Amino acid sequence: MALARRTQVNDTFIAIVALLCSAGCQATPDTAVTPAPLQDSITVSPEPTTPTTNAPEEPAMTEDLKDGEFRIVPVRDIEEIRREALAATPPEEVGAFRQGELVELTDLDPTIRLDVRYATEENFMGSRMYEEGRAFLQRPAAEALVYIHQTLGEQDLGLIIYDGYRPWYVTKMFWEATPPHQRTFVANPASGSRHNRGCAIDLGLYRRSTGEVLPMPSGYDEFSERAYVKYEGGTAEQRDNRATLREAMESEGFIVNPTEWWHFDFADWREYRIQNKRFADLD
Ligand SMILES: [Zn+2]
Repeated sequence: MALARRTQVNDTFIAIVALLCSAGCQATPDTAVTPAPLQDSITVSPEPTTPTTNAPEEPAMTEDLKDGEFRIVPVRDIEEIRREALAATPPEEVGAFRQGELVELTDLDPTIRLDVRYATEENFMGSRMYEEGRAFLQRPAAEALVYIHQTLGEQDLGLIIYDGYRPWYVTKMFWEATPPHQRTFVANPASGSRHNRGCAIDLGLYRRSTGEVLPMPSGYDEFSERAYVKYEGGTAEQRDNRATLREAMESEGFIVNPTEWWHFDFADWREYRIQNKRFADLD
C-alpha cells in the first residue's frame, strides 16, 4: 500500500483507519475485564482530524489505492496461509462474557440483501476469504438490525450487508498475508476484531421497489477521505443516503466508525468473545 511513504499526517490517518474495518476492524485488546476505548486502532483517535468544514478536495490516492480500491500483494500463497490460520488458536480471553449466539441475518428476514465481498475476489486481498456469502451477528445485534431494516421499509429502503461476523482465522489470514511493512494497517489477530465477536456490521442501503443500491459518498471499502462520515464532498443525495443509514443504525444503538460510513459496532460488543467458527459450522 506504500502508505509508509505518504508524507501527510492526514493521508496516513485516512489509510490507517480505513483499512482497519475491511482488514479486521482491529480492536484494541478489549476483554470484558478491561474495556477498551471505542476505537478500532491502537494508534489513532476515533475522530478524524481532517478539517471537514473546508471545501473537500479529491482524496489523494496511494500507489496501492487506485480508483478507491485498496489491494495488497499477499506475501505467500493464500491457501497455505489459510491452512495455517485454520490450525491456529485464537487468543485466550479472560473475564465474563455473554453466551454468544450467532444468527444468520437472512434467517430472520430474507429481504435483507447480501453482497458479502470476502466471499468473492472483490476485496483488498484480491482473494476469496469466505467459503460462503453469508452474514451472521450475535442475536441481539441481529434482531436490532432486522428492526432497522423493517423500519426502513416504510421508506421503501432496506439494508444491504457487505460483512458481518468474521471468523478469527480470516483476521489471521489478513495479517499473515500482508507484507510486514503494511501490517500497521491490518488487525492484529492477537487482539482480534469486533467482526470476530459477531458485533460489527458493514452495510449500505438499497431501494426495495427497484433493487437499486443507494449511492454513498464513497464505495464500500474505499480507503480515502470520502469514506469519512463527516466528508462533505460528493452529492447532496449521497450525503443524505449516508445520513439516513447512520440515523437508522444509531436509533438502535449501533455506533458508526467515523472513518467508514459503512461500519457499525453493536454497542455491547465488549461482552462477546472472539469466535472462530466457519459459517458452515454455524448451521
Ligand atoms: Zn467493518
